Amino acid sequence: MAASSPLIDREQTPVRPDVTAVIVGAGFGGLGAAIQLRRQGIDDFLILEREDDLGGTWHVNRYPGLAVDIASVTYSFSFEPNPYWSRVFAPGEEIKAYARDIADKYGLYERMRFATTVESASWDQEHGLWELTLASAPAIRTRYLITATGFLSQAKSPDIPGIDSFAGDVVHSADWDPSVALNGRRAAIIGTGATGVQLIPELASQVAELTVYQRTPIWVVPKLDGPVPKYVQKLFARVPAIQSAARLANTSILEAMTFSGVLHYRQFQLGNRVAELLGRAHLRAQVKDPETRRKLTPHYSLGCKRPTFSNSYFQAFNRPNVTLETESIDHIEPGAIVTTDGRRTQIDLLVLATGFSLWERNFPAIEITGRDGLNLGRFWREGRFHAYEGFSVPGFPNFLSLNSPYSYVGLSYFWGLEIQMTHMARLFSELERRGADQFEVKPEAAAAFLERMDRGLEDSVFRRGACAGSNSYYYDPHGEATLLRPASVLAGRRDARSFRLDDYDYRQSGMWYTPN
Ligand code: NAP
Repeated sequence: MAASSPLIDREQTPVRPDVTAVIVGAGFGGLGAAIQLRRQGIDDFLILEREDDLGGTWHVNRYPGLAVDIASVTYSFSFEPNPYWSRVFAPGEEIKAYARDIADKYGLYERMRFATTVESASWDQEHGLWELTLASAPAIRTRYLITATGFLSQAKSPDIPGIDSFAGDVVHSADWDPSVALNGRRAAIIGTGATGVQLIPELASQVAELTVYQRTPIWVVPKLDGPVPKYVQKLFARVPAIQSAARLANTSILEAMTFSGVLHYRQFQLGNRVAELLGRAHLRAQVKDPETRRKLTPHYSLGCKRPTFSNSYFQAFNRPNVTLETESIDHIEPGAIVTTDGRRTQIDLLVLATGFSLWERNFPAIEITGRDGLNLGRFWREGRFHAYEGFSVPGFPNFLSLNSPYSYVGLSYFWGLEIQMTHMARLFSELERRGADQFEVKPEAAAAFLERMDRGLEDSVFRRGACAGSNSYYYDPHGEATLLRPASVLAGRRDARSFRLDDYDYRQSGMWYTPN
């Protein structure tokens, strides 16, 4: 691809982009990418968002009981600490308000276009630009394309026979309708992932009857939550170093858990066993009925699938109005759910906490066509899911994808995001230094990174644990656990600060530079 000497194509007709960069998605990923572009001196960008407001996950998810389950001192930008979190684990609307504050502070609202759905993006090789097709607006040409479409942005409705015939209300957790009444309803909820765990206690306290349809039990450990006293908030505001110390302490604990329990399961499986014992003890302390306890006990190693934290989930199953159903659903009728053993449960409200289509519809979330007609979805499905440093893909010039295979580092989304911001800083500075305006990662660099990730997973719970039957979305359709980067946050940061700049080819539109 790279010529040995610069080649200027004098035949080219210059075509100017409408903007220098487009970011797709106004969640925290989009905000972080925009902040980084501003830091690089690139102010001519747009953030396109299909929803009617910013916040991503924290805008779309509005179900009762929504809260973060990574402590808020950690689940936030390290360079924008918020001293005023009301609880150790902040409720959803506070996190959305934090996103609004960040957008205000960095002047990002003026760059956002809401209700703007990007349908596809194609690389225009001749002019060195991305052409974006929008659902309800003219196409946009941009020099750089950054997708920040999240991992969990395409809600999944279960493909259960008869579901469309249901005559009562149907609400998905990611499309909550607050006007749907809960009081006095005969409700069912399908799904016991992290969302179900938060939603079930809230529903149980309001509806007349609740049947919980569980396919796979989830590991649940106690949540060390509570209000943050006002004096602590004031202390954090006056002496930010104290909040930084709290963040460091919390981060270190989460890092130790990931390092031992997830990445080095082979060496530290005793630690996982202890965590499983804690989960079992929590269940025993909270659920009276042994049969219900048995049904709620997971049968796979902790860590194969995302575990969660709750003090109220298990207790909900002690309530007389709550039934745990573990028989598979056969079909749904206008007024009932029927299980495979023929039992019919009459309901008038169906709540879907059935999660998201990750691999099917999020990799990528929009159709992306790179150089020589290469389709990103096919590239991943027909080959393997991978991206250099979890961020860039050979064949896709001037394209960065925040939510790529191996981009998620550690337990807080913000860690991986800040690592990617560092990667952007070095990449865009190098472009400037070379007087170039195009970059593309070399295939051999991407292949070497994939090989390193592969080796890094060797001792992980995904390969060494008892994960069969866990139904974990950490595994891609090829059966490889390519979502999480097998590295500590420190190692991820080090890589972002030191990846080889000549792992990329650089080009000024019309000429290629060989890296030096
Ligand atoms: P999820 O973890 O994918 O769980 C979906 C649930 O629906 C699972 O129990 C699944 O069963 C069940 N399900 C799906 N299709 C089904 C079907 N056809 N029939 C029966 N059951 C079906 O989704 P989620 O609970 O929305 O959580 C997704 C992620 O969001 C979490 O892992 C977490 O990363 C994030 N989250 C975070 C927080 C937070 O506080 N930070 C809160 C909520 C969510 P199987 O397990 O058998 O597939």
